[in-house]
Amino acid sequence: MSRKKSNVVAIVGRPNVGKSTLFNRLTESRDAIVDPTSGVTRDRHYGHGYWIDREYIVIDTGGFTTGTDDVFEKEIVRQVNLAIEEANLIIFMVDVETGITDFDLAIAELLRRSKKKIMVVVNKVDNYGLIADSSEFYSLGLSDELFCISANNGSQTGELLDALYKELPERIDETEDPLPRIAVVGRPNVGKSSFINVLTGTERNIVTPISGTTRDSIDTHYNSFGFEFTLVDTAGIRKKAKVHEDIEFYSVVRTMRSIQDSDVCVMMIDATEGFEKQDQHIFYDIEKAGKGVVIVVNKWDLVEKDTKSTLKFEEVIRGKIQPYTDVPIVFTSTVDKQRIHKVIETAIEVYHKRMQKIPTSKVNDIMLEEIEAYQPPAIKGKYVKIKYCMQLPTHTPAFAFYCNLPQYVKDPYKRYLENKIREHFDFCGVPVRVFIRKK
Ligand code: GDP
Ligand code: GDP
Repeated sequence: MSRKKSNVVAIVGRPNVGKSTLFNRLTESRDAIVDPTSGVTRDRHYGHGYWIDREYIVIDTGGFTTGTDDVFEKEIVRQVNLAIEEANLIIFMVDVETGITDFDLAIAELLRRSKKKIMVVVNKVDNYGLIADSSEFYSLGLSDELFCISANNGSQTGELLDALYKELPERIDETEDPLPRIAVVGRPNVGKSSFINVLTGTERNIVTPISGTTRDSIDTHYNSFGFEFTLVDTAGIRKKAKVHEDIEFYSVVRTMRSIQDSDVCVMMIDATEGFEKQDQHIFYDIEKAGKGVVIVVNKWDLVEKDTKSTLKFEEVIRGKIQPYTDVPIVFTSTVDKQRIHKVIETAIEVYHKRMQKIPTSKVNDIMLEEIEAYQPPAIKGKYVKIKYCMQLPTHTPAFAFYCNLPQYVKDPYKRYLENKIREHFDFCGVPVRVFIRKK
């Protein structure tokens, strides 16, 4: 039974214990590596965490606060319940400076009833002298082990990550599902459900429903318009009735899960609203996760058009997704059933581009010539010599360049290499990673 499983780690705790500091630590290294526009994600409270070969989604539940101080306790109960519903693993953070408070006890009580895997993290243990003080947190009765860390200075956070690593399931090989895994993602109300309804409307298109291993996700294998694929549907529908003020939280978690579980994302925006900041976040989440992407501009029927409309709209979008601009863009209307077929056709093309492996001899022939034409700039009189390159056997296309002084190859040159790779080999809609290694 092929089913990929996204992992969600939620951080809960009362205000000021250090949740967002830990969140930044869990997510920043990854963002720094792969987000060309780091900064885009800085103000957020959800992101990708990464340790060795395990990936997970991290949520700082404190970031989803809607209440004011007078609804304090209610607000925390709400946050903890969100975490319990959506996370596979919960980090309960407490503060050694204050010791156990009533709030901590209230949270512990909720967590105890949840049966979720809980890791108790005692923060602000900035020096060894404070370890003894943290033992009082054993009395919360939540786990046999306490992680005493300093989120500020990083002390013992490696140990926490190692423990987290052991709790996360092994990455299921993507090739286990022989079909392209397509997820439809986007902000609420852009038309995702309408699109899926048009696409899958007729029952006979459904070949086999595959029940998911996670409680509420269903993957369905479709044969639609002559294309075979698996539609990743991380259902949150069950919750629709009670979402009200928590729409943002659920839609964020669902989106992140769907992205992680897919090979290619159909990223939908609303033509009447344009490409907004939140769309930009979703786009970079897809890029960071290394998935293929097709941008779909839906509700095109509502836009007054002239001959240049699509070009103008495309230009605006490409301006906002720099430097990764060769993403296919399709204009649709689910009402007029326009270009629905084209979207799937394009998504499947992107899937195949993401799967392609360029022979090493070809990579060398072409790229070494480009490197010869424009060498990495010398630093302190030292010359970088790139002698060999190859595509790595990874799911997300990655290229390694081997040289004498890898530390001297900076981002602008890596971008040059990526641009040349994109120019010579067709990776439209697929993130490409460039690594510089010691030969
Ligand atoms: P949150 O409200 O739980 O998200 O807490 P923050 O991450 O915003 O941190 C609250 C305060 O605690 C900030 O002033 C942090 O600088 C501080 N803080 C966070 N981690 C540590 C730590 O490991 N040691 C110390 N001494 N202070 C910390
Ligand atoms: P979701 O929240 O992204 O799943 O969005 P829905 O599929 O529920 O659509 C939100 C609203 O937009 C509904 O009222 C749809 O009828 C409407 N809608 C969806 N696609 C189109 C379209 O292509 N054209 C027009 N005019 N309306 C659309």
